[in-house]
Amino acid sequence: MKILVVGAGAGGISAARGLLRDGHDVSVFEQRSDTRPGGGAVTIWPNGATVLQQLGVDMDGAGQVLSTVRIATSAGRSLVNIDVRAIADRLGGYVRMVPRRVLLDRLLADFPADRIRCNSRAVAVVDTPEGVRIEFEDGGHAEGDVLIGADGLHSTVRHLAGAKPAEPTGWCSWQGLITMPHIAESAAAVQIIGAQGSLGLWPAGGCDLQWWFDLKWTPDFVRPERPIDVIRSNFAGWSEAVDDVLARLTDDDLAASPFPHFRHPIPRASRSSAVTLLGDAAHTMPPVLAQGTNQALLDTMVLRQALSGLHAGSEHGNGDLPGALRWYEKTRRRRLAAVSWTASRPVSQNERVLRYARIPDSLATWVITVLLRSTSHRRIAADVDRDLCRRVVTTRR
Ligand SMILES: Cc1cc2nc3c(=O)[nH]c(=O)nc-3n(C[C@H](O)[C@H](O)[C@H](O)COP(=O)(O)OP(=O)(O)OC[C@H]3O[C@@H](n4cnc5c(N)ncnc54)[C@H](O)[C@@H]3O)c2cc1C
Repeated sequence: MKILVVGAGAGGISAARGLLRDGHDVSVFEQRSDTRPGGGAVTIWPNGATVLQQLGVDMDGAGQVLSTVRIATSAGRSLVNIDVRAIADRLGGYVRMVPRRVLLDRLLADFPADRIRCNSRAVAVVDTPEGVRIEFEDGGHAEGDVLIGADGLHSTVRHLAGAKPAEPTGWCSWQGLITMPHIAESAAAVQIIGAQGSLGLWPAGGCDLQWWFDLKWTPDFVRPERPIDVIRSNFAGWSEAVDDVLARLTDDDLAASPFPHFRHPIPRASRSSAVTLLGDAAHTMPPVLAQGTNQALLDTMVLRQALSGLHAGSEHGNGDLPGALRWYEKTRRRRLAAVSWTASRPVSQNERVLRYARIPDSLATWVITVLLRSTSHRRIAADVDRDLCRRVVTTRR
């Protein structure tokens, strides 16, 4: 099939990479002049790691593999230590903090550059009798059998499909990467929750440290003249490591922030449409569980499976293309709703909710393992792995 992908973020590139491997004719359209991502790092959990492996993405040496996440209150009281190495041991893969540019570089390794057209901002989408047509701001257009809107949080494709826009949750993250002279525990991530917000210091490989400070946010937010003063006044004194980072950060480091948190309901497409959504365009959620990229990767896995079923005229949507797309959306909806709902609880941002809590480490580790396991489409993942093995054996013969 001729597949058009709008957006060259982690979601769009992973989908394009997978669908190219499946033999489709894929083109990616990106509004920016290049594919270099901004921002800090993302956490890849075992559910995302499984998909990266299926896509043949070599993640060896990328970022930092984590062993534990330590959560405490701003007063220094330990709330819980999550054993993320145990989660990875149980589910396979790893929990890895990876700078966005490193993840994109790995996704783009071996990816044919001529499949990506930059400076192409999609402004209109039309379902046609033959498939679908996108129109670009510069007057150009492209036609294909399927259109995947992977154009992020404020997706144009989502808007054109008539779905509701994302809604702010009332919080935002000031976030980025800093190079520290020394990171005491390179495999331990730290999260601290206080009355006015929360913060994180997550090692991201070498001397890179991802920092984030979450504070309340409203749409009438006015950027302070010196944001670093606001961050220092809210978070200074929470720990020695925090003070060290705060002393090094400048207003320049905060220039790209804040990133308001959004969430939107997963839309239902019209039955016959050849358009579907993937990644943040389909399901932006607050970054609290660090699952956004992982969920975009799971979208890729399920979408590939839906489209591969077409050849067999199989269970994935009665063998017709719109049916396969609706099967993909339905299969993802319930799992995504569970992850998005969990990520939207205020528990990780407000000390008051946790005032008397001390959560047993083993319980927290188990809860996260169960959440990841139950929302990761493990049966589909096993089917995809089996198909991949079959393909390798056939190729060798
Ligand atoms: C502060 C913060 C921290 C986060 N931390 C994590 C984390 O630790 N772990 C994790 O898994 N996730 C995390 N996330 C979520 C993660 O960043 C997103 O879920 C992920 O980047 C989504 O990828 P995407 O490809 O769907 O969208 P994006 O990365 O937003 O890519 C969309 C692309 O589409 C392009 N585009 C937009 N409109 C058009 C158009 N009209 N025409 C052509 N191109 C267009 C954009 O330029 C962009 O390149 C975090 C998010 C935030 C805000």
